[in-house]
Amino acid sequence: MSFSINFSPSAWQDPPSLHHPFLIQIREAASKYRLQSAAHFNIPIDVCQATHDSNPDRFADIDGDFQICVGFYNFGTDPVFAVCRPKVAKRGRNKGKVVKGAVQVWMRTKFVPVGRFFEAEFSPLNGPVADEIMFQWWNANGRTFNWTGLPTEVKERVLMFCLHQSPPLPIQKKSRGRIRQVTQGAPEVIGQLGKWASLLTVSHQVRAISLRLCFAGNSDLEFGDGLCIVAESVLSFQRSIRRLDKHRQLTAVNSLPSDEKARELETLYKAFPKLYPHLDRFATFSHGIRKIYLQLSFIDALCFFKVTAGSFAQHWMPHKPNFEVLEKLPHLNELIFQLPDATGYLEDDLRKLPVSIFYGEPFNCPRTLHRLIYESAAEVLAPYKVVKLHGFMDEEEEIRFLSLRDFAKKDLKITTEELQELYEEDEGGIELEKNVIPGVKKEETYGEKQEIVPDEFWPPKCRCETPCREVLHPSSG
Ligand SMILES: [Zn+2]
Repeated sequence: MSFSINFSPSAWQDPPSLHHPFLIQIREAASKYRLQSAAHFNIPIDVCQATHDSNPDRFADIDGDFQICVGFYNFGTDPVFAVCRPKVAKRGRNKGKVVKGAVQVWMRTKFVPVGRFFEAEFSPLNGPVADEIMFQWWNANGRTFNWTGLPTEVKERVLMFCLHQSPPLPIQKKSRGRIRQVTQGAPEVIGQLGKWASLLTVSHQVRAISLRLCFAGNSDLEFGDGLCIVAESVLSFQRSIRRLDKHRQLTAVNSLPSDEKARELETLYKAFPKLYPHLDRFATFSHGIRKIYLQLSFIDALCFFKVTAGSFAQHWMPHKPNFEVLEKLPHLNELIFQLPDATGYLEDDLRKLPVSIFYGEPFNCPRTLHRLIYESAAEVLAPYKVVKLHGFMDEEEEIRFLSLRDFAKKDLKITTEELQELYEEDEGGIELEKNVIPGVKKEETYGEKQEIVPDEFWPPKCRCETPCREVLHPSSG
């Protein structure tokens, strides 16, 4: 039989009212065949009684002589016509009787099991199937996927595929032409999960694995470095930390403090996460931060690193974060600072801080200010493994910083060793004061309302060998 491409799709079909019930058995066989695998399921098989003079009427018994002409087809293909019959037992007690549910199809020279016919005419394609088909197949096959039985590494690989498919959500959304800061949620983390953010609500374990991928990163992911905070000012850094702090990690069963005792432990962890790593069930998203990039203005940098030159300590801003906040990030492993822009507009903003740091051109001295900042940075950031500063005025300054940092690191090592020795000699007799955090200077606080003490140091006047102005603006003379 042959058909033109344009034949009417239903011209060969008997109307459903004439269909013999044997078609139900054939459809069941097709369905069973398709359920073998997702690839088989990917090929639909429609079954319809074909119009043929010799077809039995719809009330005919299904016996050893029963035969029926059937069209097999799916979307986009011409039907394959074949004569079907029930299988008849050839031996045994039921010899000569019809085997229920067993369908045979005439192929070329003989009747064969319907499965073989399907393999020939509706064979599965190579390659992966669409998500939708996979989903439908699992819905139809009556089996369950043993997710909990998978080893954790495999679960992690599976979740990584989700993260791969997620384009990062924009941190800022435009609304009516204005740029609106997204304050809800934690885009630093949720953005990595994209449309898969609901993974965080599946179970403690799936949440834990997903968050670990977001925090620690993986070289196979787009966000290979893990949770990075990029802030162009101290204010935006502060906002980021606050936002992340509002979200608990909740990866353990008892992460929500339920009584007074647990709340105390939570407070303790939040104050000294490095000293109490075993309490990390109370951790928030901010504790997952791995890397920070921070750009600072002159005033912010002087305050952030708690510079004390002259009587500057009276100007530290207690409501803004300083380097001590880094101690509360137990997994922080890389710090990048952009030094204040020496080539920018250098003028005091006395509304911000009642201290003059710029002498006025041509005597502004950003070199002195940079030095104050990075000298302090070298010392207080000594405990951190990777620290990078960018934006030095010249190479000499950078070399100076690197040697100061080396020095501070060696110093720190000696201090740690000495402490250890002391500890051993004393058989562990030293009790650390409660508020001692390694790497953090002892707090020197000045009341905000305290009178401002004027001093001789500020503003520093440029006495550099080559005046700063000449270095920065060679053309201006
Ligand atoms: Zn200078």
